[in-house]
Formats: sequence, C-alpha cells, structure tokens
Amino acid sequence: MRSSQAIINLSNLKKNFSNIRKKVYPAKLMAVVKADAYGHGVKEVVNALNSLNDKPEYFAVALVDEGIELRKYGIKDPILVFDAVANNIVEDYLTYNLIPTVFTIKDLDFLKAAKKKNNHRKNICVHVKVDTGMNRLGVSYKHAFDFIEYLSNQKDFIIDGIYTHFATSDVYNSSFAKLQLKRFKELIEKLRAKNISTGLVHAANSGAIINMPDSYFDMVRPGISLYGYYPSQQTNESIKLYPVMSVISKVTSFKRIEKGDTVSYSRKFKASKPTNIVSVSFGYADGYSRKMTNKSFAIINEKIYRQVGVVTMDRIMFDVGNDKINIGDEVILLGKSKKHEISGWDWCNILKTIPYEITCNISKRVPRIYI
Ligand code: PLP
Repeated sequence: MRSSQAIINLSNLKKNFSNIRKKVYPAKLMAVVKADAYGHGVKEVVNALNSLNDKPEYFAVALVDEGIELRKYGIKDPILVFDAVANNIVEDYLTYNLIPTVFTIKDLDFLKAAKKKNNHRKNICVHVKVDTGMNRLGVSYKHAFDFIEYLSNQKDFIIDGIYTHFATSDVYNSSFAKLQLKRFKELIEKLRAKNISTGLVHAANSGAIINMPDSYFDMVRPGISLYGYYPSQQTNESIKLYPVMSVISKVTSFKRIEKGDTVSYSRKFKASKPTNIVSVSFGYADGYSRKMTNKSFAIINEKIYRQVGVVTMDRIMFDVGNDKINIGDEVILLGKSKKHEISGWDWCNILKTIPYEITCNISKRVPRIYI
C-alpha cells in the first residue's frame, strides 16, 4: 500500500449528516454524492449514510453513469440525476430506475418513446428543474407554470418533485438568492392554487441550508456540508461540521543542503542558509497543485514546515531547518494533528478556489482509507 493516503473519516460524515438533519427537520434529505462523493468514494459514503437510522431519503448524482454505478453496488434508494435527459441514453433511466431531471417537452418525448419501446409499464417519476436565475439548466421560472401544467396532464409521468438551484446562497444575506427564492415560491404557490401536484419541493444546497432556513420546503440537497466544509467563508456559521477527508504521507528522504543550493525543477527555491530538506511521495498527479509551489505547509512531528521548490508530478519537498526527521515519519498534508491543523481552506486560500475542488482533485491513485 502506498504511503500517501486519503483518510476518510466516516464518523465525521455521519456527524455532519445528523447535524444537518437536526437543522432542517422536518425537511427530508437528498444526499448529493456526485463526482464519487466529492472525491471521498461514493460506495463507502452511501453505505455509511445508509447505516444511519435516519438515513437519507434520496441520493443525487450528476450523471446517469454515476447512478448506474450506485445501482451496481446494490443501492436501492431513490436516485435523482441532475444532468439533462438529452445528454443520455434515455433507456438507462428506466432500466436502472433513476429519476430524470426534466425541463423541456423534448425530454418528456424522449422518455415517453423509451417507455413505449421497452414496454415499461410503470409511469416515470420525474423531478422538474426550474431555472430561477442560475441560467445553467432548467425551464425558466417565467415558463415553468405552463410546462408543469402540461406535464401534469401527461399520463406517462408522475411529478415526484420540483426543484431549483441557487447561484449565491453561499453568501450570507444574498439579495440574489432571496430573489431566486421569491420566484420559486411564487411558482409553487401558483401551482398549488391550481391544484397541480408538485411532489417534493426542494431548493436548498449547503449554502441555503446554512443561510436560508426559509428555503427548506420538503427536502434539502446538501453536498459539501456532508463532507465537512462550508461552501464559502462568507456564511453565517450555524452547523457544526467536521472535515471528512485528510491526506497523510510519510517522509521518504532526508538530506542536508548548503547555502545557495536549490531544490526541484527550475530552481525556484534557493537556500539562504544550510538546511535539511525532506521529500514526500505526493505531487500534482495526486491533486497537490503546482500552484502551491513555495506556498503550502505540512505538519511533521507536531511542527509546521514550509513546502519548497516546484511541486513535481510525484514528489514535494519541505524545508525542516535544522530538525532531524526520520524516514517514515508521518506527514500531514491536509488535516489535524494534536496541536495543528492544515485545513482545506488553507489550500483554497493559496489556490483561490473552494473546498469542493480540493477534495474532488485528490486523484484516484491516492488510496482511500476508511475509518
Ligand atoms: N443541488 C444541485 C443541483 C447541485 O448541482 C449541487 C452541487 O453542485 C448541490 C445541490 C449541492 O451543493 P453543495 O455541495 O453546495 O451543497
């Protein structure tokens, strides 16, 4: 087994889930496990959540292929696919009992044709995606009433849900998120006034779960918060979350360099005095961006050391000064020791990104160890 590992703390995942559950009660939960559960390993994440007494009511994935993967693992729960029907082999929704996201008449025609061709008896459960301002996927809130009214008259379909997605809910008190919510609420009220069944109404991603309690409706869709992070640093902290992923490795070499010596490609680090350099088997092919060069840190034996020299594909180096470090000593690249922490946000602040990208980018060649 490789010395570099991503440790996935499933008890933290469960704690996060339960804290979200308490916060949004009595709304249901749709756990968002797309992109291999944001890099944490979808099979283990789904099984851990399903072992809870108050397990998620739904799961959501981005792609049909991700839904098929879950079915192949034996997951029987309802699974919503966020992707557009037009991108996919439509029969797969029926074969694998995946819930399509629909928002055009064409989507309905494709599904109807697949139902007929496959002699599929059951009506197809769908969730309608309403675009209230994100301008990515969905029927515009301006035309959504007509589309949903049309759909409600189609005998082949059951409207199992209607949803929208916020563009700025990660920012506390966002006026645009409030506008999106207003547009969505007006639509739902109009549908209810006409006795058109909406199924489960849902809107809240992690940002809205934290910042917008009036957006919970019947169900919420947490992603990043399950994995222990707030979606941004501008939220109103209201749920205790515990990062699920940490990344550790071991020191694989130790050497003394002299004043003026340089480290790694292009000689971007030059020692100003004699010092000790350790190298660690982790690089940009593992998800440690080259943009971290000379900017990041690691914890070794309860001390924090600076990363030096260009990050290479398979290896990074740290300046440990005059400290004596042994080959095989543990290196924490992301995570907590007793005294220190290198958080996903520390990486984000260097890389100008969000924790989603950090965990998704820890590549497949880093073994996931579940604790
Ligand atoms: N709902 C939809 C439609 C999404 O695309 C996503 C993620 O991008 C989520 C919910 C979960 O969002 P978050 O990870 O911010 O909680």
